[in-house]
Amino acid sequence: MTTTPSPTECQDRRRRSLAELTGRKLDALLVFHLPNVRYLTGFTGSNAVLLLHPDRAILFTDPRYRLQATQESDCAVRVAKGPLLVAAVKASRRSKIRRLGFESARVDWQAIENVKEHLSLGASLEPVCGLVEDLRRVKSPAEIALIRHSVLTTSEAFRRAIRHARPGIPERDLAAELEYQMRLLGADRPAFETLVTSGPRTALPHARSSSCPLSANRLLLVDMGASQNGYASDMTRMAFFGRPGPRVKRLHRAVLEAQLAALAAVRPGVSAAAVDRRARRVLRDHGLDRAFHHSTGHGLGLEIHEAPRLGKGEKTRLAAGMVCTVEPGAYLEGLGGVRIEDTVLVTQTGCEVLTPTPKELLLL
Ligand code: ZN
Ligand code: ZN
Repeated sequence: MTTTPSPTECQDRRRRSLAELTGRKLDALLVFHLPNVRYLTGFTGSNAVLLLHPDRAILFTDPRYRLQATQESDCAVRVAKGPLLVAAVKASRRSKIRRLGFESARVDWQAIENVKEHLSLGASLEPVCGLVEDLRRVKSPAEIALIRHSVLTTSEAFRRAIRHARPGIPERDLAAELEYQMRLLGADRPAFETLVTSGPRTALPHARSSSCPLSANRLLLVDMGASQNGYASDMTRMAFFGRPGPRVKRLHRAVLEAQLAALAAVRPGVSAAAVDRRARRVLRDHGLDRAFHHSTGHGLGLEIHEAPRLGKGEKTRLAAGMVCTVEPGAYLEGLGGVRIEDTVLVTQTGCEVLTPTPKELLLL
């Protein structure tokens, strides 16, 4: 499996971005959101600006990355010592660019104010929002292969690490074991801070793993994901130490039913909001709609949270090649919370659940 995008794949992405630019009557685009730079150039360094112009693409970086940038990217590389944005705007002046787009959601206002003086007379900076992000929603076969790999790492790390879960060990220790196993399996890093909560703390959907000990006869929630070769995966599973009582079983069954219903709704053409509604309807039938207070899922890829969001009001129509999570949950103060999350590929006819880990309440 190739782990870096081929030059032709990057060229194709740039060509599609340029077509969008032309549609918006822009001459060029300044790209500085690093996942977007990586997507368009292959460059993985931590400091870069891309000037995307129909005639050429110039990648600006600092001296630390001189060699790496030329190795990873087929773009012209310019090494700048000062602010990269200034260097890129100055280069745009030489190319006689009039309407220069910039990623307005990805930069602070002051940085843009600071470069205006370097524009040529009559040229303007035009805000552009989500142009590259929209292209990134549909993954190429190469990207899907990388996400599959990342998903398998997450599942295998879970399988290996969960054996070490015992009542009494701190949540944080199990989180560390999960992350260690992901690293051993080739992950670059966790895609987000691994979440392990136990007992009533499972009712806090986005708490942090703490020094609280895992407790007997209580729920255990693990939300984890690898970032491998740049691509994220995301999974939540539930376990229980001992024999769960009827309330816990009911809660788990209801969330699982909601998750399966949402999965069944995923197919090309359906709106992201409709998938969310399916999960919510099932939880409402169980009297749990008010216990579910986040979106049903989110896209993922080079970032852990990407478009589309599977939530209320999200009009995006799903399309084959999109990859997203499906993760309804229900959280009851005092008892605990249940969330079940898979990483899912939208196919021509429906969806493929990429996550192989069983979803039943795992009894430890
Ligand atoms: Zn998650
Ligand atoms: Zn998620």
